[in-house]
Amino acid sequence: SAPLTAPDCLFCRIVAGAVPATVVAQSSAAVAFRDIDPQAPLHVLVVPRDHHADVAQLAAADPALLAQVVSLAEQVASDESSGQFRLVFNTGPSAGQSVFHVHAHVLGGVELGRINA
Ligand code: 5GP
Ligand code: ZN
Repeated sequence: SAPLTAPDCLFCRIVAGAVPATVVAQSSAAVAFRDIDPQAPLHVLVVPRDHHADVAQLAAADPALLAQVVSLAEQVASDESSGQFRLVFNTGPSAGQSVFHVHAHVLGGVELGRINA
């Protein structure tokens, strides 16, 4: 069935193939593609095919889908790196969220330090 979409959503367009992206893995539920402005040797975004605005809304609406996002993230980190990775879900503008279709940043391929905010 067609995924749940939102109008004018960049990541819905990437899921649909209407905006190009370098897709590195996908499943029936989620798509993984390279961040256009990578901040680490491994920097991939994993999005559910269905539109949910942020991770809190996804967790409330469809927790099994959140687990599928995490599973695809782990697969990418294992395929492309050591299998050790950092997952970041920026949630809300003040936390740095700029695209309001939930996405996990999968970061790895380097020794990641502690965050000093
Ligand atoms: P946020 O700031 O919402 O946590 O993360 C959005 C991420 O999407 C940023 O890291 C940004 O570099 C990435 N991004 C923005 N536009 C595009 C795009 O058109 N294609 C890809 N592949 N990544 C994008
Ligand atoms: Zn969307």
